[in-house]
Amino acid sequence: MNSNSNNTISESSPAKINLLGYDLAHMKAFFSEMGEKPFRAVQVLKWIHQFGVDDFAQMSNVSQALRKKLADIAEIKAPEIIMEQKAGDGTIKWLMRLDGGNSIETVFIPEDNRGTLCVSSQVGCALDCGFCSTAKQGFNRNLSSAEIIAQLWVANRTLNQFASRDEDDLAVEKKSALSGVQDSKRRVITNVVLMGMGEPLLNFDNVVEAIHLMLEDHAYGLSKRRVTISTAGVVPALKRLREECDVSLAISLHAPNDKIRDQIVPLNKKYPIKELLDACQYYFKGDTKKKQFTIEYVMLAGINDSETNARELAALLKKLPCKINLIPFNPFPDSEFACSKIQTINRFKDILYKAGYVAVVRKTRGEDIDAACGQLAGKVIDKSRRVI
Ligand code: SF4
Repeated sequence: MNSNSNNTISESSPAKINLLGYDLAHMKAFFSEMGEKPFRAVQVLKWIHQFGVDDFAQMSNVSQALRKKLADIAEIKAPEIIMEQKAGDGTIKWLMRLDGGNSIETVFIPEDNRGTLCVSSQVGCALDCGFCSTAKQGFNRNLSSAEIIAQLWVANRTLNQFASRDEDDLAVEKKSALSGVQDSKRRVITNVVLMGMGEPLLNFDNVVEAIHLMLEDHAYGLSKRRVTISTAGVVPALKRLREECDVSLAISLHAPNDKIRDQIVPLNKKYPIKELLDACQYYFKGDTKKKQFTIEYVMLAGINDSETNARELAALLKKLPCKINLIPFNPFPDSEFACSKIQTINRFKDILYKAGYVAVVRKTRGEDIDAACGQLAGKVIDKSRRVI
């Protein structure tokens, strides 16, 4: 149970506990404090995360008296969508408003064989990576576990992904209730990446509790391979993560040596590349089958994209069983960088490929919307500043 979680989204009803962000252990402790049996935790978890219910009155297998008691002390409350942008390629970006006037971004990226939801973990970010739009907003606050899992809950609701409770669909409900897992045929969101606004490992406890819900069979039932934490490399937290919640990992490396990385990822000055890669080796020791390891490398013209850089990168990663994602830089207003030319990116990829790596050039998605992370929230903030 995470005692550090701040699960109260609503400031309008501070006395009520928001159950949206409670994982199974937390939910069991909650019901135990009420003098209820642990199976109540499973029932309520399923209603919230498999059927998308936010009203205790609809929880028909919970006694009337308990429903009333729950409604008095608790709530299921998610942020509201205040803006939606849809790109021609199917990418959807939502801006969600939190209490206190902050907003966060969540992006859904559909592909042929999967759908990925990119989730935020903080409002803004303190790490100040030079190529990042979110960094320009500075850091505001951590998201609670409820605000993190709410992004998956809201996306499932908006995409009509929760199991139906209609009479006609009773068979699906029974199957889902029996297996404890959502029917995979109806699932559109197959993968979750914590790659939106913020550094997830600097909001450790709340991120881990939300991930427990993503993996939980009585909630979303995703496998460890399908849930990825993307980090700039908070080394001590990586060690803790292996013990507590070892999902797939994406390291935002972006440079083949400390000299370049110090310039574009300032956290490198605290945790240089060797320390970071040693921590990754520890993280994956003896277990590369259940979880995936990806190196993220944004292609910045004239900064990190030379053939020498590609060879350096190949040598650097030789002990790590990783896949390398080359990401064409997505420019945003006032950014000081330009994207590498496509020929340069392809040459870089070929060098890595010849060195034995699976290197992929990530497709640019949502080009006709504000696709760079933090861009949409940044626009809203700018707009509100102008109004003030
Ligand atoms: S790239 Fe990630 S870690 Fe770096 S500033 Fe942006 S959100 Fe933060």
